Amino acid sequence: MKVLVRGAGFAGLATCWYLLEAGHQVSLYDPKGIGGGASGVSPGLLHRYPGAKPRRADDSATRTLLNIAGPNSHTPKPILRLPQSPEQETHFRTLATRYDDLSYENGLLIHSALTVHPLPYLNGLWSACLARGATYGEAPAHLEVLAIGAASDQVTPIKGQVLRLKWPDIPPLPYNLIGRKYLVMGDGWCDIGATYERNFTSPDPDLQTAKSLLLPDAVKMVPELENAPILDCRAGVRASPPGHFPPIIKQLDERRWLYTGLGSKGLLYHATFAKQLVSLLPT
Ligand SMILES: Cc1cc2nc3c(=O)[nH]c(=O)nc-3n(C[C@H](O)[C@H](O)[C@H](O)COP(=O)(O)OP(=O)(O)OC[C@H]3O[C@@H](n4cnc5c(N)ncnc54)[C@H](O)[C@@H]3O)c2cc1C
Repeated sequence: MKVLVRGAGFAGLATCWYLLEAGHQVSLYDPKGIGGGASGVSPGLLHRYPGAKPRRADDSATRTLLNIAGPNSHTPKPILRLPQSPEQETHFRTLATRYDDLSYENGLLIHSALTVHPLPYLNGLWSACLARGATYGEAPAHLEVLAIGAASDQVTPIKGQVLRLKWPDIPPLPYNLIGRKYLVMGDGWCDIGATYERNFTSPDPDLQTAKSLLLPDAVKMVPELENAPILDCRAGVRASPPGHFPPIIKQLDERRWLYTGLGSKGLLYHATFAKQLVSLLPT
C-alpha cells in the first residue's frame, strides 16, 4: 500500500521505517524538512527510568532505530538523577538495588543512558529509509499518517526552550544531570533545558524568558555556570496528550491516521508507538 507520512520528526521517521519493514511504499513530507519541529531542538536525553517514581521502561525499539541510523546518532553517557524529595531519594535507592545498570551516588546514576544527537539520528534513519525505497514529497497515497506533533488540535502545545552555555574552566562532568532542570554535557559547552511554557505568544526563542526560567536552577546544579557566556537559545513546541500518557494513535477517517502526543518523552517512546501504529494499518 502507498502511504504518505506527514511530519519528519521522531514520530514520522520511525513510522516510515516500520512501514517500509512491513512492505509498504512510503513517501515523507514536512514543509520544515527533517527535524524542523520539536525533535530537532531536543538535547537528546534518553534513559529507561522516567517519571517522579520511576519504573523501568522498555527503550529497546528506540535503541534498534539508533543502531540503524548509525554510530553518529548517539553517545553513551550516564545520567545522574538528583532526588527532589526524601521520598524520591528512598525510591531511587531501592531502585538502584534492583537493576544492574543503576547505582546510587548522590543521586540515581543511570549507567545505560545515552545522549542522542537528534539531527544525525533523523538524517541517518532517513538515509536508511531512502535505501529501502522511500521517497520525499507529497506523493498520492492510499493512506496518510499525520505525525505532525504540536500542529494537531488534539494536544496541548507546551513550549520548551534550551540554553547553550560555554562550559567554565572546570573539568567536564562525566554524566548528564537531571534535577529540577537538566544539563547535557557537550564539548566545551552544556545545554540547559528545558522550560515548560503553557502560555506563550510565539514559538520562537525568547532569551529573556529562557534565562529567567533556566539559569537559577543551572547555577544550583553547577555554581561555576553563574557568569557563563550564552552561546545559543533554541525553542520547540511539545505535543502533550490529554492526561500526559499514552501518546495518541487514532484513525481520523478512511484515509488518515494521527500519531502525536509524545510530550517530553519522545525519544523513549516514538519507536514503540510507531511500531504499534503500523501493526494496526491494513497491509
Ligand atoms: C526544548 C525541548 C527539549 C526536549 N528534550 C527532550 C529530551 O531530552 N528527551 C526526549 O525524549 N524528549 C525531549 N523533548 C521532547 C521531544 O522533542 C518530542 O517528544 C518529540 O520531538 C516529538 O516528536 P514528533 O515527531 O511527534 O514531533 P515534531 O518533532 O514536532 O515533528 C512534527 C513535524 O510535523 C511537521 N508538520 C506540522 N504540520 C504538518 C503538515 N500539515 N504536513 C507535514 N508536516 C507537518 C512539523 O514541521 C514538524 O517537523 C524535548 C522537547 C523540547 C521542545
